[in-house]
Amino acid sequence: MLNIVLFGPPGAGKGTQSERLTEKFKLIHLSTGDVFRANLKNETALGELARTYMDKGQLVPDELTIEMLKAEVLKHSSPIGFIFDGFPRTNAQAIALDDLLASLNTEISIMLALEVEEEELKKRLLARAEQSGRADDADAAIIENRIAVYNNETAPVKTYYQGQNKFTSIQGIGNIDEITQRIFTALENIQA
Ligand code: AMP
Repeated sequence: MLNIVLFGPPGAGKGTQSERLTEKFKLIHLSTGDVFRANLKNETALGELARTYMDKGQLVPDELTIEMLKAEVLKHSSPIGFIFDGFPRTNAQAIALDDLLASLNTEISIMLALEVEEEELKKRLLARAEQSGRADDADAAIIENRIAVYNNETAPVKTYYQGQNKFTSIQGIGNIDEITQRIFTALENIQA
């Protein structure tokens, strides 16, 4: 299986690049943010719980997020592989993901970390708010908080994958096609 962690701060382009990877490799795209938003829309109990955190730009607690992610993974029988987008966001989530994949006799193949500087992220998120209608993209204070949460709680997950020699940095600035090409090149290197 090809299992990719597509990593990066909010606004780095994870969703856009996931679409391209899904198309090329026929992988299953699992975005924890998308699953939470679907739960919000359908007014489920999980959605109600997640809302309080999402509205402030905080992380949903690990226990809830990990249970939800496990259930999503286990929905698929004999997948070619997964793209994990927006997960793991803490070391506890990374450990839980390793355990889950080990129980399925597979593992993470690579972490692709999209690197984009903060001023660019803020610009992209405010521009995205106009199309996405996401409340957490439209408010400058919530954006600041999401970036701070990323720096403090999520960025350390890079070290976890560095320890496994799976970390690959991808320059996330530039034209979307160029960034996709950088990702494809990184994947060719691990598959070679
Ligand atoms: P995203 O669509 O990835 O930007 O996620 C939107 C929001 O969903 C985040 O700001 C968090 O509140 C929540 N969320 C998504 N993924 C996770 C995760 N792996 N762990 C905790 N909270 C998450």
